[in-house]
Amino acid sequence: AALALAGCSSDRGGGSSSDGATGAAGFAADATIGIALPDKTSENWVLAGGLFEDGLKAAGFSPDVQYAPASNTVAEQQNQISSMVTNGAKVIVIGAKDGKQLGTQLQQAADAGVKIIAYDRLIENTPNVDYYVAFDNFKVGELQGQALLDGLAARSGHEAPWNIELFSGSPDDANSAVFFNGAMKVLQPKIDDGTLVVASGQTDIQQTATQGWKAENAQSRMDSILAANYTSANIDGVLSPNDTLARAIITSAKQAGKDISKITVTGQDSEVESVKSIMAGEQYSTINKDTSLLVEQTIKMIQQLQKGEEVEVNDTEQYDNGVKVVPAYLLAPVIVTKENAAEAYANNPNLLDIVKQAG
Ligand code: BGC
Repeated sequence: AALALAGCSSDRGGGSSSDGATGAAGFAADATIGIALPDKTSENWVLAGGLFEDGLKAAGFSPDVQYAPASNTVAEQQNQISSMVTNGAKVIVIGAKDGKQLGTQLQQAADAGVKIIAYDRLIENTPNVDYYVAFDNFKVGELQGQALLDGLAARSGHEAPWNIELFSGSPDDANSAVFFNGAMKVLQPKIDDGTLVVASGQTDIQQTATQGWKAENAQSRMDSILAANYTSANIDGVLSPNDTLARAIITSAKQAGKDISKITVTGQDSEVESVKSIMAGEQYSTINKDTSLLVEQTIKMIQQLQKGEEVEVNDTEQYDNGVKVVPAYLLAPVIVTKENAAEAYANNPNLLDIVKQAG
């Protein structure tokens, strides 16, 4: 990558940096890097913390990894980010709990010259977010929508029309609408032409939302929907935005006496319990968003910032945060069903083992 601003920097007076301590327009090679992660609503967040800790250390940095606790999450995350700025972090990577409530802290970061990378979730309504790194969220939604259609045809045991219900994620997460819109791009035409019937009539993002990405909220909404609409009718499929919610939806359907082998439930994250469920013929699909690849890409960006190099991005159009379009590096998500699981998890010994054990 080209050196940006090489020679324009006044801070080091052209001294040699053969020890690699400081880049031309960068910062010390052993600088503190803040990692502010949300509450542990899914396995990917748990994995990310450990991978950042190890990966940043291996790259020579001093990681400061913090999770927002499950209670008082927004305020705690705000405090954690403020402390990271005060403690001299050079870059702060943020998996936002509520991407709309970090304006004050990010202004403080910008004033101190700290670079901000939004990780997995976009941070909104602030000019002070420098980069975004994530799996392509809209594509995730499209893959979920297509998987739902494929599963309906394969599992329901009958032709269309199919009865389905829709779930979306937490309203404080910018990803939720992107996932839902991606899925609805595929599903809406099929609802319009009568291929799919949403018996509850709940088809917009407010009606389908799952506050806090919490399993219990999805489960109780599913309980109500089944009781109100499906005591005699069959339900053929459910759009679930992630694995945690998919398993809650499946639990609800089983408790209502439904035959889960005929119902298509989508997911996302390749959580261990969901991969087991897929191999057992219950959950239909998930998405592989390999956390190690996302963390690796983020650390690459941090290294580019450290050296004062131009940060590599591959999307400068999709992620408008309300104030600006945030330059993004997007990775490609992969749809996973029982059929391609072995191939999809070829580089993940843990998940591959589950697939192999299921035979
Ligand atoms: C992430 C998903 C995750 C969800 C809940 C989203 O922002 O992109 O992978 O399932 O948060 O934790």
